Amino acid sequence: MNEGLGDGCQPPEERRALVLFSGGQDSATCLAWALDRFDRVETIGFDYRQRHRIELDQRRPLANAIAGLNPTWRDRLGEDHLFDLGFIAELGQTALTAETEIRMDRSGLPTTFVPARNLMFLTTAAALAYRRSIKHLVTGVCETDYSGYPDCRDDTIKALQVALNLGMERRFVLDTPLMWIDKSATWKLTEQLGGEALVKIIRDMSHSCYLGDHTSRHDWGYGCGDCPACHLRGEGYRRFIIERGGEPV
Ligand code: ZN
Repeated sequence: MNEGLGDGCQPPEERRALVLFSGGQDSATCLAWALDRFDRVETIGFDYRQRHRIELDQRRPLANAIAGLNPTWRDRLGEDHLFDLGFIAELGQTALTAETEIRMDRSGLPTTFVPARNLMFLTTAAALAYRRSIKHLVTGVCETDYSGYPDCRDDTIKALQVALNLGMERRFVLDTPLMWIDKSATWKLTEQLGGEALVKIIRDMSHSCYLGDHTSRHDWGYGCGDCPACHLRGEGYRRFIIERGGEPV
């Protein structure tokens, strides 16, 4: 872990962003979005004993590939921080941290819901941002076509922003560039940010599948093709291709 830079050559805190980067499609798009806007972009990831480590293993190669698309982005990409939040798995079994069936539970939430996960991720990220003088926290949460997780909702994020700022006496901004767009529009944003090259990198290197399948190749990337995350991703990519005239990327 690096200490705060405290270096006069570094950009001011409002030009610095910390991206919650899991290695999935949404956070990869957020990383490109941040590299396009801020002068210095660091990434943070979490090991919470997720069933499959494929996302974690893909994080750094994916970030380097995205930043490698142009020299400006390459210069802007800073440190990566990986935190061990293994206690999340101890808090209770979910289908993301244990061999539990993926289905709806009695509350109407999928068994992939990890209670308060995003709240803990964002709180940890804010504590790191405090130490490293970073103003913007960027997260790929979305309430447009999502799995119904209450901690992805806009109101949750806004309330947490207030709580973090009060609790740390700062003015963090929680940026959610994907909050109001669906998966098809997320691919469109990807194309706007980095053209077909970025679409290809995120399609081929990011990972969304709940089952950790990184061997089955589809036109939308790797995954089992059958879990809710693969369904969302596949459907979004199919609509993106149709809306751009059916021409494959
Ligand atoms: Zn899958």
